[in-house]
This record gives sequence, C-alpha cells and structure tokens, in this order.
Amino acid sequence: MVVSREVSFHAYHSHRGMLYEPNHSHEFFVVIGVKGECNEEGFVCDYRAVKRTFNRVVKQKLHEKNLDLLFEFPTSENLAKWIWGELHFFYALSFIEVREKPHSKAVYLGPIV
Ligand SMILES: [Zn+2]
Repeated sequence: MVVSREVSFHAYHSHRGMLYEPNHSHEFFVVIGVKGECNEEGFVCDYRAVKRTFNRVVKQKLHEKNLDLLFEFPTSENLAKWIWGELHFFYALSFIEVREKPHSKAVYLGPIV
C-alpha cells in the first residue's frame, strides 16, 4: 500500500544554464509517498505526523529561502532527491514528488539499488 501527504513551502530560485530564468518564487508543492502495510486500524501512517516531520525537517530549512544559496542547481528534480534524503530516516518512502507549477512535476523514486 502507498499513501501520500501533500505539503508545500514557498521559496525563491533561478535556473542556470540551458534553461536560464532569473530569480523568481514558487509555492513548491511536495507529495510524500509512504509505503507499508495497514495496521490493525487500517492505517499505513499518520498523515498529520508526516506533515509535522516535513515541517520540522524540511520546511524550516527551505521556506522563504533563496534556494540558489543552498543548492548548486535548485531544480525540482534536485529538491525531490534532497527531500528524500532528509525524510527517509523517518518513513519507508515510496516517492517524493515536487511541483513548481500544476502542469510539471519531478518524482524521485529513491536510489537505484
Ligand atoms: Zn522556477
């Protein structure tokens, strides 16, 4: 079973190189996919706890920040990988999705093993 919780943060970034864009902001939407078996009450995990963990471990580092100062290339793809690295200690992740805009997203499925 895979369940997911959507969360968000607001931050600034630019795109360098071939897809150059000057610094601008987004509300970044993040979907945290958690896999596992249902417990005896029919839950895989507590969605509220996933959000609290995200806020504590990820959002406080990124919210209202200039991501250009934190990442060499602050793309959705790299953010998804980085968020996975921050959250995989807490949950059995299935995927991390990051959307800058409703029509485009990056989905990280974890390291290839
Ligand atoms: Zn952007």
